[in-house]
Formats: sequence, structure tokens, C-alpha cells
Amino acid sequence: MSRLHILTIPDYERGTLPPEGYLQWHAWAKVQQKAGLRQKKCPRCGLYRYPQEPCRKDGVCPK
Ligand SMILES: [Zn+2]
Repeated sequence: MSRLHILTIPDYERGTLPPEGYLQWHAWAKVQQKAGLRQKKCPRCGLYRYPQEPCRKDGVCPK
């Protein structure tokens, strides 16, 4: 009996918040990129992020 680990990645929409997980994030980022969103450098902490993406998960800029 074989067990397959199938990672299901849902469809993401433009402007939604980033998901948990590395692969999921990349799938999400691809959608944002296709939708015309671009990562920008946060003027406060210098992290690159999409406009709707918080600098950190708790939403606090680590400056
Ligand atoms: Zn920041």
C-alpha cells in the first residue's frame, strides 16, 4: 500500500493576504505577480513585500 502526499494548493486571488507555507506562498505570489502586483521595499524595515502583505505575520513592522 502506497501513501502519496498530495499537496493541494488552492486558487488564490489578487490582493488576498499571503498563506502559510513556502509552496503556498509561492503559488500565491505567482497570482499576485500575474495580477500586476509587484513587491515593494518597505520604507520602514526594508523588507520586500506585496502591498497587501504585512511585514510580519503579526502585522508589526520590525523596525
Ligand atoms: Zn516594514
